[in-house]
Amino acid sequence: MKLTVLGKYGPYPKEGDHASSCYLVQGGSTSLVLDMGPGSLSRLMQAADLRKINGIFISHLHYDHTSELLPFRYLLEDMNLKMKIYVRREESPWYDILFGHPDFEVINVSPSSPVTAGDFKLTFYEMKHTVPCLGVKVQQEDKALFYTGDTLFNDNIYPALNGTDLLLADCSKPAGFTGPHMTVENAKEINGNTGVRIISTHLSPGYDPDDEYKDFPGIETAREMKTYEI
Ligand SMILES: [Zn+2]
Repeated sequence: MKLTVLGKYGPYPKEGDHASSCYLVQGGSTSLVLDMGPGSLSRLMQAADLRKINGIFISHLHYDHTSELLPFRYLLEDMNLKMKIYVRREESPWYDILFGHPDFEVINVSPSSPVTAGDFKLTFYEMKHTVPCLGVKVQQEDKALFYTGDTLFNDNIYPALNGTDLLLADCSKPAGFTGPHMTVENAKEINGNTGVRIISTHLSPGYDPDDEYKDFPGIETAREMKTYEI
């Protein structure tokens, strides 16, 4: 299985050639996109054959994780292509705007029900953010990745890491940050307690956590358009 980071910034991209939250996970004959933030569509077209994408998982409905779905619908129309969207049903106008399109086949997901997407098994975990957010564990054969979406540290993270090879985590805020995201200190603690390899993502445009991780070989700051073998 492999992970390609298409966009790593939130709540908006850094100036220049950058994008917000979007990741491509590939394994066997399956390709799954995790979130679709601003600037990610062009990169997704570069990284994958859209006709071979099995679906898109959406962790939560903040704009920096979803808004590229809107122009993506024009492309689906032009390609005469349907796309599965794995997302938890919500009663909200933004949910209706995003997903109310005939080319989207929306699959309602929940923490109590794993689903199969091609060769992948997807298991969902409740996270803790300013709006409802699901993390997803992506498993293929004996490999697994866990993506947190946006979250504070919470009691579901360690259970989700059981048997997980790579943690793609919203943990790039500086120590002492008090908003609804994890910090570099959370990343170090999780890595220390579990040994799991961490890709630290959801970077603020003005802060790069690289220096914090120089003594932590198990933690890397996400690099856009880099592919990580799992
Ligand atoms: Zn968010």
